[in-house]
Amino acid sequence: MFVFNMKMKKERIIIAIDGHSSTGKSSFAKLIASKYGLIYVDTGALYRGVSLFAARNSFIDRNNVIDTAPLEKGVANLNLQFKPSGPSGESELYMDGELVEREIRTLEISSKVSFIAALPFVRKFVDSILEKYGAERGVVMDGRDIGTVVFPDAELKIFMTASAEVRATRRYREMTARGENPDYNEVLKNVRERDFIDENRETAPLRRAKDAILLDNSDMTIQDQLDWIEKIIKERWN
Ligand code: C5P
Repeated sequence: MFVFNMKMKKERIIIAIDGHSSTGKSSFAKLIASKYGLIYVDTGALYRGVSLFAARNSFIDRNNVIDTAPLEKGVANLNLQFKPSGPSGESELYMDGELVEREIRTLEISSKVSFIAALPFVRKFVDSILEKYGAERGVVMDGRDIGTVVFPDAELKIFMTASAEVRATRRYREMTARGENPDYNEVLKNVRERDFIDENRETAPLRRAKDAILLDNSDMTIQDQLDWIEKIIKERWN
């Protein structure tokens, strides 16, 4: 069994996990954080939080047309914060003091978030929060631009992907397990649409950093992925 290496802890590393939607980045990142004593930061949750704020205030309509001026004003006073929710470093998102963890994960918000995340002022707002969480290092962050833009000096960068169908099936199962009744084709459409917007936006597009290690988990279990990362961490820090 791999024994946690003290050198790694002292160095307070940043692990950046970027990749496509629904590749299981957050589940993987949470497991890594709990195994190696790091703090997990779900950067997508912050973009989802801004999207929920925009939707509730009608700053984004059903065609995803955004009224940017009031949104920018509102974001300036928006408070998004993670608070611990479990013994293994789990956390939940609070928006102006309200727990919104469930509300930010609906298909409605998933269908808006990539449009909101493409706005430069929104990225600046989220980056300012991430810089605070990353200042002390010792974190695992998952997102789209962590290894390329937010923490290009991260000690370990992983780029996760899987086929769109595999990812849609995973998301569909997650939603069904939560008691929702999604349409599989809608979920698949959302996965593809988000890939397209994330990869083609002007500000901080989704890219694999040159030094990121590719993890295609289409045919891998969570245990396979943990074995894979354990080997890499052993090689780098032992
Ligand atoms: O990771 P998750 O699917 O929850 O992220 C939701 C959306 O937030 C992504 O589809 C992407 O548009 C945006 N995002 C981003 N940059 C990040 C994290 C998420 O643009 N670092």
